[in-house]
Amino acid sequence: MHFEESDEEKMFREAVHDFAQKHVAPVWKEYDEKTHEIPRDLIKKMADQMLWAPTVSEEYGGAGLSWVMACIAAEELAKADLSIALPVMYLVEASWAFIFDKYGTPEAKAEFLPRVTKGDLFFGIATTEPTGGSDLVNTTKTIIKPKGDGYVVNGEKVYISGVAETEKYGGIYWTLGKSDPKGDHKTMDAFILPLNTGKGLHPGVTTTLFEDMGRMGVSCGGFNIEDVEIPKHYLIGEHGKGFYHAMEGFSAARVLIAATCLGAAQGCFDIGVDYVKQRKQFGRPLAAFEGIQFEAVDSWMALQADRHLTYHAAWIMDEVYGKGNKNFTKLDIAKYTAAAKYKAPHDALDIITRAMTWHGAFGYSKECPLEASYRGVRSYTVGAEGGSHIQKIVMAREIFGPDYLPYRQEKQM
Ligand SMILES: Cc1cc2nc3c(=O)[nH]c(=O)nc-3n(C[C@H](O)[C@H](O)[C@H](O)COP(=O)(O)OP(=O)(O)OC[C@H]3O[C@@H](n4cnc5c(N)ncnc54)[C@H](O)[C@@H]3O)c2cc1C
Repeated sequence: MHFEESDEEKMFREAVHDFAQKHVAPVWKEYDEKTHEIPRDLIKKMADQMLWAPTVSEEYGGAGLSWVMACIAAEELAKADLSIALPVMYLVEASWAFIFDKYGTPEAKAEFLPRVTKGDLFFGIATTEPTGGSDLVNTTKTIIKPKGDGYVVNGEKVYISGVAETEKYGGIYWTLGKSDPKGDHKTMDAFILPLNTGKGLHPGVTTTLFEDMGRMGVSCGGFNIEDVEIPKHYLIGEHGKGFYHAMEGFSAARVLIAATCLGAAQGCFDIGVDYVKQRKQFGRPLAAFEGIQFEAVDSWMALQADRHLTYHAAWIMDEVYGKGNKNFTKLDIAKYTAAAKYKAPHDALDIITRAMTWHGAFGYSKECPLEASYRGVRSYTVGAEGGSHIQKIVMAREIFGPDYLPYRQEKQM
């Protein structure tokens, strides 16, 4: 067992830390409160540092970064942008472009990935529909049917990150549909939906925007898809394997979400500790009261636990993807990333709440950076990339075995 970062990882953390403190920390409040858009030049700067979709292979302009390193970057970015908008954009690209790189056709990858890694084209994920997001198989009504040499797609997606940016600057989506509306998970296909490849919205696509409570630098919206024709090579992976690829993509996103929430929580904890050391009440610093110290210890322990869980999950991913270690499977990845994705956001909310309380009335004001972090992290307990209950379903499936899944039981009854 080895609990120390390698020299390469330490240097990488230091470089991302310096970059994030220099370029991200001074500007995030501006996009959280005013512009609601991450500056394009910041995304380009990240791409210049090989920090945009860095898990994509070098062949397509990525850095082929390990999952441990990808988590280090997410953590450092979230320490600098406490609203977590920039790390959210970073992690969506790093996880879903990775899955596209793994299973997409060479033609589609050559067409899109170099533009994604340069920060010119947003790469999003679209699974959720108006009838729900948790039960992918039963709520997916987007239909993909063969037509001529390719396919035609009809459907609707909602609560999708990056819709406004895509409309304005260009973007494509890893999208989930079904070839048979009444079919099971084996009729699900993943494909590239070219929402805006640089010439404006694709004919047949109309968009809507929603207003979220947090991570204001990233938009959230939806789109209708009406008779959109796509070439055959936009299908990602084998026909009928979309559900499995979606699960793999969720695992990748979840480990980076855990690292993001860990970074935000650490950033808020550090601010809180500094504050109680200098703020005096009853004739001494707040930090000198055990009531405050014990809360800080609870936060510190949660940070250590989440760090171990998150980097353990990332390490398993590197063993499987990077080294082909057969002692672990993709189901192990699903279980550990679900655990990290469950724990880190919940703990982060507790840690941020304590730090806010230490600040008294100031902690409840918009001047204090902690409230933005609370609003951002909350997205990862309610729903984004699977709600908290869903993480527990994933873990329970691995503890009890798939036969004990509630919906399988119903089928057997
Ligand atoms: C900020 C934000 C950004 C998002 N970005 C994207 C995106 O880019 N792409 C995309 O495709 N989707 C995105 N989503 C949607 C997200 O994936 C869904 O919110 C999520 O899958 C849950 O779906 P739902 O909101 O329809 O809730 P539902 O599926 O209706 O679930 C409602 C609640 O019930 C719980 N629940 C569901 N089933 C069970 C069960 N069996 N047992 C116990 N509890 C259960 C859920 O955890 C949830 O709390 C985003 C969501 C948010 C909040």
